[in-house]
Amino acid sequence: MSATRVLVLNSGSSSLKYQLLDMRDSSRLASGLVERIGERSSRLKHSPLATGGETREQSAPIADHDAALKAVAEELAKDGLGLDSPELAAVGHRVVHGGKHFTRPTVIDDAVLAEIERLIPVAPLHNPANLTGIRTATALRPDLPQVAVFDTAFHTTMPESAARYAIDVETADAHRVRRYGFHGTSHAFVSRATAKLLGKAPEEVNVIVLHLGNGASASAVEKGRCVDTSMGLTPLEGLVMGTRSGDADPAVIFHLARVGGMSIDEIDALLNKKSGLIGLCGDNDMREIQRRIDEGDEQAKLAFDIYIHRLKKYIGAYYAVLGRVDAIAFTAGVGENAAAVRAAAVSGLDALGLAVDDGLNAVRGDGPRLISPSDARVAVAVVPTDEELEIATQTYALVKTTN
Ligand code: AMP
Repeated sequence: MSATRVLVLNSGSSSLKYQLLDMRDSSRLASGLVERIGERSSRLKHSPLATGGETREQSAPIADHDAALKAVAEELAKDGLGLDSPELAAVGHRVVHGGKHFTRPTVIDDAVLAEIERLIPVAPLHNPANLTGIRTATALRPDLPQVAVFDTAFHTTMPESAARYAIDVETADAHRVRRYGFHGTSHAFVSRATAKLLGKAPEEVNVIVLHLGNGASASAVEKGRCVDTSMGLTPLEGLVMGTRSGDADPAVIFHLARVGGMSIDEIDALLNKKSGLIGLCGDNDMREIQRRIDEGDEQAKLAFDIYIHRLKKYIGAYYAVLGRVDAIAFTAGVGENAAAVRAAAVSGLDALGLAVDDGLNAVRGDGPRLISPSDARVAVAVVPTDEELEIATQTYALVKTTN
């Protein structure tokens, strides 16, 4: 029997998310999450999807990622899906920052590990956690291919004109300062799925992807290749997000340091964790913001308007970058669920051929769907993202060809 299962791991600093997939039919056999690793209040939530059993939860302390993965392995073994199974083909790891170097999924060896480590200065929160996940999984199954799938890889096709900041070239290069972009697996998956929805090959269409989750980013995808994206050196640049400011004059930082007396770490926390929607109105959940708007809350309305204004600016900018747009795709928590955000983002853009059909936009659904009027020049679509499936697909394609 050939090995067809892929375990997808997404390791955060104190969390471990996982899914086990069978690549014969891309079905999900199990999924779960370990939270608050290293704290007394650790929690493991495991859904045995293959057996259709109830989700199981435990709340015993889990000291580190090693213990977390062992606990996950025990849960999987209870469902007959143990990680020692010969059916497991590979482990696919989400790695946030692959720099310029990693343009595609890569089987991990010592040199790859060293390069991911070298990128820690540009991804100080994410890459160390991703490395921990890789080391833990390798220790558990040293014989198995471990594959890194980079959040930045899809964006490495950006031309220099989009990837460079207009700052002194020597200084930028010495410190690897350039625009890398993130959410790449989602942008790749959604742009391809949008082409499919239009009945076309990815190479035949130009798509603007709006990944609107708690983190949010836009990308301009020309004939299947990313030519611009809104996140930059870090995920802070671009759209207004749940807790991140997105674009702001860089001089805001000097001003807050010089005049506001804030430290660099305080400003970092302000812009990454206390800005965006939560900074503007105290809530980062779009459902809550919409509820407040319905009650006449003006602060929530202003936060929503700022969010939409930025989104529209990016739609216009990427329209200009692409020249011709076949589709705009909304994805992630807000993009897939918030009809009001979708309607507001394209309102008034009829001159660009953009409109939503209110009836179609209001229908809730699970799959990719068009929400533009049938005679629209540009298709507007809701395309659910699936980063785990994309990581598993890329991982499996790689190990199938290298084995
Ligand atoms: P994600 O990061 O993709 O998981 O998206 C999370 C965000 O999606 C949440 O913070 C909410 O703001 C938003 N969200 C989820 N469900 C809904 C919904 N039904 N309506 C509006 N926003 C939603």
